[in-house]
Amino acid sequence: MQHNPWERAKNQLHNAAEHISLDPLFLAKLGAPDRTVGVSVPMRMDDGSVRVFEGFRVQHNNLRGPYKGGLRYHPKVDMDEVRALAFWMTMKNAVVDVPFGGGKGGVAVDPKKLSASELERLTREFARKLAPVIGPSLDVPAPDVNTNGTIMHWIREEYARVSGADAQAVITGKAIKDGGSEGRTEATGLGGSYALAEYLRLTGQHPQGMTVAIQGFGNVGSYLAGYLQELGFTIVALSDSKGGIYIPGGIRDLKAVAACKERSGKIAGCYCVGSVCDVTNMEQLGGRDISPDEALTLPVDVVVPSALENAITSDNVADVKARIVLEMANGPTTIEADRVLAERGVVVIPDILANAGGVAVSYFEWYQNMHGETWTKPDVFAKLKEKMDAATGAVYQASLQHQVSLRDAAYITALQRLASSAA
Ligand code: NAD
Repeated sequence: MQHNPWERAKNQLHNAAEHISLDPLFLAKLGAPDRTVGVSVPMRMDDGSVRVFEGFRVQHNNLRGPYKGGLRYHPKVDMDEVRALAFWMTMKNAVVDVPFGGGKGGVAVDPKKLSASELERLTREFARKLAPVIGPSLDVPAPDVNTNGTIMHWIREEYARVSGADAQAVITGKAIKDGGSEGRTEATGLGGSYALAEYLRLTGQHPQGMTVAIQGFGNVGSYLAGYLQELGFTIVALSDSKGGIYIPGGIRDLKAVAACKERSGKIAGCYCVGSVCDVTNMEQLGGRDISPDEALTLPVDVVVPSALENAITSDNVADVKARIVLEMANGPTTIEADRVLAERGVVVIPDILANAGGVAVSYFEWYQNMHGETWTKPDVFAKLKEKMDAATGAVYQASLQHQVSLRDAAYITALQRLASSAA
């Protein structure tokens, strides 16, 4: 059961609900999505054959505003996964206090096996099927795993064709020239750094001297690493799907490591001294190679799963040595592992708080589109900080008041906000 995301989502809901008094009708409403949409996406492949893919959109709840959440293209996408992800979006949007509900969707397909024109045909067909159930005030999709601004642009065009209304705000994650927001690319990583810094401030701790290991060096992990370093943390380990590097004294030049990964396609071997990044510098830097998962079990103060779900499980939780886990990925800790971490007093800053910076700036994008405004990057960052600090403060207070983990506190905060919208 621990790896079924929908079972985990329901478990989290009921754990948190035990601490507060909620109307059973309200709980029943959250325990199942408002609407699940399953569509068939038939398309002609480049070789002339016809294939039929399965597409999904789950609209979990809209008590606080339009359904909001990404669309992913992945062979493992199924209704249970999408249902859980839509539920987490409802909770995340309530925690970070943006006027959105929760939604999620996708197509069960491996986009890496499609040509560029097949990808476009698939997306346009999927978008035509979705058009009747999305809209700026109804349901606002965004990019997620294996989808991007170009795919969102095709969806917007098909939505305009079907609905007769060309609405910028029907999707977020657009390129800036198409109405996207400044700062969206950095938002999730930056938001995570704000949440961690605010938690430390509230508990009288300081980043200086704290070591950090990050699993996953993609969009989220790479920006997070840079912002944490600016705050005074020492980044000692980074990994991606092929391996990683560990330098106990600190990885100083993160930009050089990122450029090295860009060139070589992996972090492994990116030991940088000056402009030279290769394995011959390893000894001089006192570093060593690590496996993709080893980043989670190094002797550091903070570990950051920022790759995939189910990263910390009953198999490796006993080896986690950090005292803080900053969950940047969605659902990176299984229920069993979460229980063990709590028993050991490890603080987990939960995903629905830690990675909410992304959707906060998606809301800013939607708001700018709806009001014909354009905000500067410093303005977006200042507003993001305000949102993340307030959300972290609310969750921390709830954890003190109810004597619960930050995860239960985040759910309690979300449930209370949702319940007051329902009243
Ligand atoms: P990404 O595809 O840009 O990066 C993912 C990284 O994880 C890559 O470096 C990849 O090599 C690495 N990886 C994959 N498997 C690994 C493994 N077993 N061990 C170590 N590294 C591994 O994705 P992203 O946008 O950075 O998202 C990362 C996570 O954050 C996902 O769980 C995503 O759902 C979540 N998230 C992202 C956003 C966002 O705005 N991008 C918002 C909220 C949550």
